[in-house]
Amino acid sequence: MVDFKTGKAKEGHERQVLLYGVLWWRVTGEAPSKVSLQYLGARRTWTVTPDQLEVAEEKLGAAIDAAGGALSEHPATARPGDGCRFCPARARCDEGWGHFLSTSARVRSGISDVEATVASAPSEYGFLATRDGKEVDVVFDAAVGRRLPPLAQGDVVRMLDCVVKDEGKTFEIRPWTEVFPTLSHHAAHA
Ligand code: SF4
Repeated sequence: MVDFKTGKAKEGHERQVLLYGVLWWRVTGEAPSKVSLQYLGARRTWTVTPDQLEVAEEKLGAAIDAAGGALSEHPATARPGDGCRFCPARARCDEGWGHFLSTSARVRSGISDVEATVASAPSEYGFLATRDGKEVDVVFDAAVGRRLPPLAQGDVVRMLDCVVKDEGKTFEIRPWTEVFPTLSHHAAHA
């Protein structure tokens, strides 16, 4: 059994070719006695026994059972990681959002996700807010403001892809910015 690889050797290739061996065994009834990883400039070959193939098969079965269990969880268990910053669910996932905030540098210009607490009743063009204990301005065009969800003083709001201005003291909600009110401080502390 030979698995041809076009890239560099990676952790996991050995297990992969072993599982190919299991599949071969179960489909043909013949257990391979050797498996090989063929890279562009090198080949690794080693012997395998039916016992090793059975162990690999049992581990795969356990992994499939675990994956099936995880897929049946509603809501699914959060697994925060580097992908959270691109995840479309990040504003509604407290674990992922928290991970994103704690691992991201504070952006002082450009586009960023921001969490702030509404500190004044929103007007047609914006509201005062606090972020990390500091007062900031959140601004928007009237047309954008009309499409925002209802916001009240004390609401914690997550804004995806807003424009950061004034060295991080002003955040502009643009037409593409997604705005998610979360728990208000009042509700959170009730
Ligand atoms: S934000 Fe939540 S759902 Fe999205 S990748 Fe992160 S942990 Fe998973």
